[in-house]
Amino acid sequence: MGTAMKAIMKKVAGLGLSMEEVEKPTNLGPRDVLIKVRRASICGTDVHIYEWNEWAQSKIRPPMITGHEMAGEVVAIGSAVTRVKIGDVVTSETHIPCETCYQCKTGRMHVCKNLKILGVDRDGIFAEYAVIPETVLWKFSPEIPLDYASVMEPFGNAIHTVSSTNLLGKTALISGAGPIGLMAIQVAKVGGATTVIVSEVDPFRIEMAKNNGADVVINPMEKDLVKEVYSQLDDGVDVLFEMSGSKKALEDGLKCVTMGGEAAVLGLFGKKIDIDFDSLITMRGITVHGITGRRMFQTWRIADELLRTKKVDLSKVVTHVLPFEEWDKGFELMINKKCGKVVLNLDTISE
Ligand code: NAD
Ligand code: ZN
Repeated sequence: MGTAMKAIMKKVAGLGLSMEEVEKPTNLGPRDVLIKVRRASICGTDVHIYEWNEWAQSKIRPPMITGHEMAGEVVAIGSAVTRVKIGDVVTSETHIPCETCYQCKTGRMHVCKNLKILGVDRDGIFAEYAVIPETVLWKFSPEIPLDYASVMEPFGNAIHTVSSTNLLGKTALISGAGPIGLMAIQVAKVGGATTVIVSEVDPFRIEMAKNNGADVVINPMEKDLVKEVYSQLDDGVDVLFEMSGSKKALEDGLKCVTMGGEAAVLGLFGKKIDIDFDSLITMRGITVHGITGRRMFQTWRIADELLRTKKVDLSKVVTHVLPFEEWDKGFELMINKKCGKVVLNLDTISE
């Protein structure tokens, strides 16, 4: 084991990322864990960092290692680590809570006031080795393949959103069949939804939504979403899961929700949006849940159970597993949306 490692970095401000040889991290704080990363998956956030959009420009301080979704093996531990041991195979929550603020102390670590995000506020996991605090590691069940363990974090977004409401015997509309929307289809079915309608604009993702079990898929570019939903269900849907980040999808989605129903919003609009709050939400008595991250660690436990018992089949969502060296091909797939989840395999790295 040499002292250099390969890492995907944002080396300088601007478009793109690059694979670099960097020093393997050696300095572990008392509660830090050194992980040999074996799988890493690409998130929309990584694509934003690649594209260097406004959000990335305001948040990212190059040079830094990107990436935050991973599965790997514990190879060294800090002096005070008690929760994992060398040889454990783990995945990681990417929101690192302070464990001392009001929210953390009252069981709401996912909305910690002092949250630090892996691969955004500190070096990430697109590297052969990564340093992660023990607090956020999740030892997943051995039945779960590494490829799927590395996507447990976005899978957790789908679970957190869907489990914000009781779906038993209810109908749902999911707007946006990106990787998280696709996983949400399967989770909603497990949660007891009777009918899951999906709205999606991309032809490739429309096919994927059908393959993941959507009962009806509507392309709002071709058909009037609201009319279509009410033609399927006289009362509209009980709940909207907004997973597209499109203002139009939110507005039309809310119109599809039955009076007194619910909406859970995970999608990020990336800017201020204006909607008619009075008529869409207040006067229709809609309850809106804002969803951020995953509940620590209730969501992780559910994710583990659903994968361990094969209640959710992520082979319908993970479309590509590529060698780490082909990371740029993975980003190209993500940018063109010709994929579900793209996983990078670091076991293939030649010494
Ligand atoms: P994604 O961008 O891959 O998927 C969004 C999908 O919505 C795409 O397939 C796109 O074609 C589709 N879409 C765009 N406009 C649409 C419209 N008008 N109607 C229907 N579909 C439309 O994103 P993802 O990785 O699956 O994430 C889903 C959303 O959740 C994104 O907005 C992302 O930023 C957000 N997100 C939020 C959190 C959080 O903690 N709140 C965490 C992760 C992701
Ligand atoms: Zn906190």
